[in-house]
Amino acid sequence: QAFVDSIEASNDTLNAYVVKTPEKALEMAAASDKRIAAGEAGLLEGAPIGVKDLYCTKGVRTTACSNILGEFTPTYESTVTQQLWDAGAVMLGKLNMDEFAMGSSNETSRFGPPANPWRRNGSNQNLTPGGSSGGSAAAVSADLCLAATASDTGGSIRQPASFTGTVGIKPTYGRASRYGMVAFASSLDQAGPIAKTVEDSAILLEAMCGHDAKDSTSLPEPVPEWRNAVRRGVQGMKIGIPKEYRVDNMPEDIEALWSQGIDWLKEQGAEIVDVSLPHTKYALPAYYIVAPAEASSNLARYDGMRYGTRVSGDNLISTYEGTRSEGFGAEVQRRLMIGTYVLSSGYYDAYYLRAQKVRKKILNDFVEAFGSCDALLTPTCPSAAFAYGEKADPVQMYLNDIFTVTANLAGLPGISVPAALDKQGLPLGLQVIGKALDETTCFRVAGALE
Ligand code: GLN
Repeated sequence: QAFVDSIEASNDTLNAYVVKTPEKALEMAAASDKRIAAGEAGLLEGAPIGVKDLYCTKGVRTTACSNILGEFTPTYESTVTQQLWDAGAVMLGKLNMDEFAMGSSNETSRFGPPANPWRRNGSNQNLTPGGSSGGSAAAVSADLCLAATASDTGGSIRQPASFTGTVGIKPTYGRASRYGMVAFASSLDQAGPIAKTVEDSAILLEAMCGHDAKDSTSLPEPVPEWRNAVRRGVQGMKIGIPKEYRVDNMPEDIEALWSQGIDWLKEQGAEIVDVSLPHTKYALPAYYIVAPAEASSNLARYDGMRYGTRVSGDNLISTYEGTRSEGFGAEVQRRLMIGTYVLSSGYYDAYYLRAQKVRKKILNDFVEAFGSCDALLTPTCPSAAFAYGEKADPVQMYLNDIFTVTANLAGLPGISVPAALDKQGLPLGLQVIGKALDETTCFRVAGALE
């Protein structure tokens, strides 16, 4: 009830929820009360959770914040959300996001952007909570839910967490099922939570992960009790500092944050080692080829025939054209054009195939680096939260993903943990990248930085 009331009071200003489900929440909470009384409480019993609008939720409108999905109301539940409800969690509603999760500022949502609850010292200007999981991050940060589901294709869990002083983890590719998640780029997409603390994020992630026969890329791996790793410390651990992440024109505040993180880990008994990830400079170009290519294939299904919006024309082709021109926003259309271009015959070898080769080299860099360390420490983003409209040039927007896309390209786990405030009073996150399937180490290091 307290969360339902807070949403009622603040959502008009924050625009974090695009669908509110107060009745469902109170009904689920009442069922939780009964299970608690019967001594049958699940891991998340009674925990009020917000759901990013790209998870299909049975009977609750799901549009990935795109016009093309109209009033689409799924007849089935995504595996990840089903697992949360099975663990006793309570659903508060659906959270704002960039259209089809394409963006770093949540400005491409059909419902308009959510506001970051944080502001620069002495300023009233609204800032973006980041993207694409901006609604999830804003809602957690403003106490409009205890935690939220999010998704990360190139940083969409970690960057919004960094911008809002919250914790976000993207697990190893294949840890969480993608069944029932609206697809963006299938070889990069991963589910994960945004939460208030490292421990909360570990508990949530435990409930979200596990093998699912409905997703052919889901890994048949047991889910460890990650919550027990959080306070285990970093004594004797080797933490790698990748020198290529020291990019040109890195803001002083980000430099200071990184040094601070290094000092904290040293003080707690970790050894710091320099490592090199030489292909880092090719990560953004490779990501912005692979992700649009996969998106152009995934989004081909939105043709106005089966569900969502239809703009009828005189014939089939004009109906497709009308539907897709009106249904998709400008950023999605840009990605679809890039994606179809890089996949077209004659260009496939020059772009898509080459990007896949670069991707392999990026993975090899990580494998090599992990030969001499247990995890890597980097800033999550090259900046704090920025204002709406501040990055109107798409390339400037894409550059904000510089430290996050590598983990997706390599399929590795990455966590962002709030670590400092910049000179303007805005939160900044540190990122810990781990070996494949070694979220445990990510949680240990993140726990030490918290
Ligand atoms: N900002 C990146 C993009 O626009 C990542 C988005 C995401 O992780 N969903 O593609």
